[in-house]
Amino acid sequence: MELGDYKTPKINPKKPIVALTFDDGPSEYTTKILNTLQQYEGRVSFFVLGNRVEANKSKINRAVHMGCEIICHSWDHPDLTKISGSKIKKQLINTITAIAKITNGASLMFRPPYGYINKKVEKIANKLGLALILWSIDPRDWESRNADEVYNYIMKYVKDGDIVLCHDVHETTAEAMSRLIPDLTEQGYQLVTVSELLVHKYGEIIPGLTYYK
Ligand code: ZN
Repeated sequence: MELGDYKTPKINPKKPIVALTFDDGPSEYTTKILNTLQQYEGRVSFFVLGNRVEANKSKINRAVHMGCEIICHSWDHPDLTKISGSKIKKQLINTITAIAKITNGASLMFRPPYGYINKKVEKIANKLGLALILWSIDPRDWESRNADEVYNYIMKYVKDGDIVLCHDVHETTAEAMSRLIPDLTEQGYQLVTVSELLVHKYGEIIPGLTYYK
């Protein structure tokens, strides 16, 4: 795998950008998020589990068609710092392969489950050419399961260049997005993918490097 296949971001440098990201899906609620997004011509990044990819092909295809990004979040969500190197590789490679089969290409990034990283995980990511993506805003949507709280938290803390961590496996998160996406757009935010944001900010995305936190 080689780096250099990221899309040139279509970003207006005079306006703020934010990358909304959704982990652990796709799920039945992914569609609701895509529906909202489509109305506002925004893009987001989905960090999917490999074992959910095959059953959710059509959602993934739709997301990609809308300019969204599909990124590896592992095969079945283990704590990568607690498993062997060969198991880590398997988690990543199998998921990337499953995604690539549908999207005709693979993103050279991944987000470790729980954000847990150690030297071994970093080394393997580097070897596979993958950058590690964390976040800068965490509304803990999985904990509150409350659309108002998720919406209020993000609106309160969001700033230019943020990566926001959410999960598209909760109905309440999809509900929060149906208000958040229009309101961020209204405030001038450009909703971009993680790779667009990082390329815009840093000019490149470096394998083995961790972005944010
Ligand atoms: Zn997760």
